[in-house]
Amino acid sequence: MHSLTKTALSFKGIGRRCVALNRFSETRIICRGLTCAAEHGEHENELYDVIISGGGMVGTAMACSLGLDPNLEGKKILLLEAGNKKVMDKVPDAYSTRVSSISPGSATLLSGVGAWDHIMNMRCKPYQKMQVWDACSDALITFDKENLQDEMAYIVENDIIVAALTKQLENLSDQVRVQYKSKVVKYTWPKSHQVADAIPWVQVILANGQTLQTKLLIGADGPNSMVRREAGIPTVKWNYDQSAVVAVLHLSEPTENNVAWQRFLPTGPIAMLPLSDTESSLVWSTSHRHAEELLQLDEESFVDSINTAFWSNENHSELVETAGSLFRTALSVLMPSAGSARQLPPSVAGIGPKSRVMFPLGMGHASEYIRHRVALIGDAAHRVHPLAGQGANLGFGDVACLTQLLSQAAFNGKDLGAMQHLLEYETERQRHNLPMMAAIDLMKRLYSTNAAPMVVLRTFGLQATNTLPAMKAQIMAFASK
Ligand SMILES: Cc1cc2nc3c(=O)[nH]c(=O)nc-3n(C[C@H](O)[C@H](O)[C@H](O)COP(=O)(O)OP(=O)(O)OC[C@H]3O[C@@H](n4cnc5c(N)ncnc54)[C@H](O)[C@@H]3O)c2cc1C
Repeated sequence: MHSLTKTALSFKGIGRRCVALNRFSETRIICRGLTCAAEHGEHENELYDVIISGGGMVGTAMACSLGLDPNLEGKKILLLEAGNKKVMDKVPDAYSTRVSSISPGSATLLSGVGAWDHIMNMRCKPYQKMQVWDACSDALITFDKENLQDEMAYIVENDIIVAALTKQLENLSDQVRVQYKSKVVKYTWPKSHQVADAIPWVQVILANGQTLQTKLLIGADGPNSMVRREAGIPTVKWNYDQSAVVAVLHLSEPTENNVAWQRFLPTGPIAMLPLSDTESSLVWSTSHRHAEELLQLDEESFVDSINTAFWSNENHSELVETAGSLFRTALSVLMPSAGSARQLPPSVAGIGPKSRVMFPLGMGHASEYIRHRVALIGDAAHRVHPLAGQGANLGFGDVACLTQLLSQAAFNGKDLGAMQHLLEYETERQRHNLPMMAAIDLMKRLYSTNAAPMVVLRTFGLQATNTLPAMKAQIMAFASK
């Protein structure tokens, strides 16, 4: 059985959700208010149980997940997105430059909301192995599943994820109302109960003047979240001195292409992620200035820079090589069968028709994910460096957790915007997200130098970890949630 199918079946609530979808499909002829309401005017000042602000990958997944939950049947749910509806009648021939490495845990969530089949029918590339290595030494670490038939993760274009979720939302139009081109310009928060005539709900005001009310506002409006800002939630954030250059790469020759490659250069990590037998996706994090230079290069020089970045040993030093090789010898005496052989990445011959793009990188964490009647999910709550490919995965984890707690609250007849279960959401997610964010930030800092003592230290660390299968399994299990 396909490994994802196995996990999907064991995922709590999935079976129940699929039954729910069928039931709702059969009863769609019964008008339950939302689908019969036609124009914006009819929704003026309307009270919703849940409004999700922001329909990116995470907000759209949240809308599907709530819409499918049987305990939330009959609740009024609205998704607001500032941009256009993202449909995909036909998958474009050219790959998009924006892709995400989707963990098995996220694939399970997407499968549970019925979007994974659409993704598989559109385009998606599983990979079985990852090799991470240091440009300043011979140190490397590999991750693979014991059974190489199992997928370690999947590379999926962001547009395909959103299109698959959007398609699924169309099947849920009885449960979830969606408004595109609907930018929120203001929120007003419920006042304390002592204030006479106080509105007890969150008010949401759109750019077109429409005013809506909700018992629970879910902020899924990305790293510059207006929900977070207007709610006055303190945020720890900083910009990295790096931008990521992304592009689609043509490989020199067809390969099985089932390995994700990442090399830590002193200027930042460069990653090559499989898209097909002949194409891969580039995510090259480097100084802003170097990123700008890379965008200006002609195609041939750009391709040369990529191949040099993956293959050149110009950052190796004799001191580090000697220390590393002594340490490797000692490890091989202690653990003769441990460790894994170095593989060489494919060489790049050209780039795809879509232009190269760069994104400034930063880290941000909301010190609170919730307020009375408000919850933050996805990049609105946490933003990370792409070196571990975890940003969207953390967001999908938020979706699974918040859905489960809201479902339970609805089952128990509780107010969805009440603090009790929102606090549980915050605690559970911060427990998962914070260690992951700290590890990613530490990796970024540890590898941002070519100072010999630091290089020797990380060389020892990486080599030692590579010989400890139990530790590698733990790292993989943590990253695959
Ligand atoms: C180079 C790069 C590579 C990455 N690679 C990976 C990877 O391999 N794996 C991974 O898991 N993650 C990866 N990430 C991170 C991932 O892209 C983000 O974590 C993810 O896109 C966040 O999704 P989101 O829905 O929370 O936010 P966003 O994608 O920012 O979506 C927010 C949405 O809210 C809408 N919105 C904003 N304001 C308003 C408003 N006022 N009213 C209405 N709507 C509004 C916006 O239009 C937008 O659609 C990468 C990031 C970068 C930069």
